[in-house]
Amino acid sequence: MGKDSDQLASLFRDVVEQLSAGNRIAAEAYWNVFGQEVFKSSNYKFRPGIHPHEFSCLRACYYSAKSIERRPPSPDPRMLVGRALHNEINFIMKSALGDSYIHDVPVDDTEFGREYGIAGEADGLFLHEGKPVLGLEIKTGTVPTSPFQAHIYQLGLYQLCLKPPFFALWYISRDGDKSKVFFFQQEHLSAVKSGLFDLLAMIDSGELPPAEGSWFTCRYCPYSYLCLKEGMDAKDR
Ligand code: SF4
Repeated sequence: MGKDSDQLASLFRDVVEQLSAGNRIAAEAYWNVFGQEVFKSSNYKFRPGIHPHEFSCLRACYYSAKSIERRPPSPDPRMLVGRALHNEINFIMKSALGDSYIHDVPVDDTEFGREYGIAGEADGLFLHEGKPVLGLEIKTGTVPTSPFQAHIYQLGLYQLCLKPPFFALWYISRDGDKSKVFFFQQEHLSAVKSGLFDLLAMIDSGELPPAEGSWFTCRYCPYSYLCLKEGMDAKDR
């Protein structure tokens, strides 16, 4: 384990230990240090474009594609746990598989990404003899019995950009107790493309897509300040 990962894992263990002992105040103090380290260790930089991970709300995709100012909410423990889990999973995968696994794979520079202005990063890509064989998207939190529609769209867009023959969607509960994998079904590709083309038409015409976010997505959306200004109360959605 590298120094940064060692430090993160150790800080995270401190948080869990304090929580297990019922020391909420101490856990929060450890959490603040842990959270800062997680953010420091992230290389992610937002790039304008259509972001597949925002497909649960076409309005959010529209704002990102138009480079509207983002005002991300302050980090929430759930987001930090999710990010820490992603980092750890990627680290383990990389250590085990070496060059056969790449993580945080940008899609902007792919042929499809360039043509349609898709931006962002898929979580992982497994390679065999240098060729992509399986894409991976990790979702932490609720483990559903079937994949969420927005996640199917997200996978479809990554698949179109990165072109592995298979793409896996791996749901993991935040405590790591439950997990379930779904593979992207090729028959969903036409619906994904048609959703993308509808969005592109709205971006071209300047027609603001409907506000489709759920209570959860609106709460963490960097554009909620705009929706709230327009009179939509995100808390009630
Ligand atoms: S606040 Fe909600 S409705 Fe508005 S853009 Fe964000 S996710 Fe969509």
